[in-house]
Amino acid sequence: MLKLRFFSCGSIGYDPCSFEPDIPRGTHVEGPIPFYLLEHPSGRALVDTGCHPDVVQSPESAWGGLAKAFYPKVTPEDLPMAQLRRAGIDPDSIPIVISTHLHMDHAGCNQFFPKARILLHAEEWKAVQNPAMEGKGYFRRDWDHRLRYEMVADGHDVFGDGSAILRHWPGHTPGHMGLVVRLAGPRTVVLAVDAAIVRANLAGAVPRNTLDKDIYRRSIAAIRAYQEAGATVIFGHDPQQFAELLAPPAAW
Ligand SMILES: [Zn+2]
Repeated sequence: MLKLRFFSCGSIGYDPCSFEPDIPRGTHVEGPIPFYLLEHPSGRALVDTGCHPDVVQSPESAWGGLAKAFYPKVTPEDLPMAQLRRAGIDPDSIPIVISTHLHMDHAGCNQFFPKARILLHAEEWKAVQNPAMEGKGYFRRDWDHRLRYEMVADGHDVFGDGSAILRHWPGHTPGHMGLVVRLAGPRTVVLAVDAAIVRANLAGAVPRNTLDKDIYRRSIAAIRAYQEAGATVIFGHDPQQFAELLAPPAAW
């Protein structure tokens, strides 16, 4: 049976009005930078890889102006490679990395998994090739490496038994993917990632940093349909929900 483990690559400070435009400007929250580990009898898959190690030294020099709106606090111990090692897992033994999208808080450590197949949506690969996108959530430092990138489409079955299905939920970015996982129970869990960053997004709030709002709303409707059918939705950076998920054993 599939097991899902929760991690955060440090934290990220931001004004909650970024994701919920109805909130007045000027407040501050510390949100998680989630990554996940799927443990399947046939092997493991890591979902996202947090921030690049350069962020540890200086968020400003790594992320430029973007660090004004989203300020990461990451120590060397927070990086996925270190957290996996602490969990007794050799990062080199991970055969699959699912790159939900190539933003700087999701794909920063992709290069440190050179042996893994890195599953990515073709629209995302296309989006980062546009030089105008550099610095707007995408940084060459994160994705421009000789890695085993493998393009996958909506409905990709990660382990071949229906327990983890990739879904193309664009809007936040063109190739953004979420996951539908089936755990013991049986329990269906939706990893919305940044298709629904905080709980309020599912209720209709559209984040300011959405690339295409109409497409975003279509993705939200797809996630809502899973929720109405009984699935538990895990949001991309919801501080409250993720604090609960990180409480030991931090796994489902
Ligand atoms: Zn994100």
